[in-house]
Amino acid sequence: MSSLSESCLHLDGFRVSGGSDLVCPGCGARLDAARVAEWVRDAERERDEAYSLIEGDEFGEIVREERQQEVYRRRKVMYELKSVPRIETARPEMILVAHDPGEDAYECRIFYKEPRPEHGMDHLTVEANMRAILELKSDPSPVVRTAARKVEEFHLSRMGFAEDGGHAPGRRVFYASDL
Ligand SMILES: [Zn+2]
Repeated sequence: MSSLSESCLHLDGFRVSGGSDLVCPGCGARLDAARVAEWVRDAERERDEAYSLIEGDEFGEIVREERQQEVYRRRKVMYELKSVPRIETARPEMILVAHDPGEDAYECRIFYKEPRPEHGMDHLTVEANMRAILELKSDPSPVVRTAARKVEEFHLSRMGFAEDGGHAPGRRVFYASDL
């Protein structure tokens, strides 16, 4: 690593960049998962040093607190990274949206290319109104946001049918090319 990346605290965390490489947007350092784990251990070591070296005065207390916070921050970055690649690569192959007239809700079935990703969202239900659909569109999961956009598309087209006095279709299938 360059001296710049060694002094950088990677305050914005890392972005996944091609394959399993992680890049700090601040200094451009590239780390793999093992180096990120090492980066967390560095902070833990610095915290432990603070506990063993600094006397129990007020300043020492502040340093210990800061180093503990840094450990928490780095761990959080590491945990988030562990969950990101799995979600990002889970691209649905097909989404089926069906309107349930009894509940006035949309049932969404999400299909993946095999093998289905671990923890891959495969089913969700949302009330047939814009408030509920918009809320789903801000979900942290990209798969849920994709499904929400398709539900919105279907909902608006059904509203269009209703305004024209027509019979709105009860279901629609979206394929990978529509997602
Ligand atoms: Zn950095």
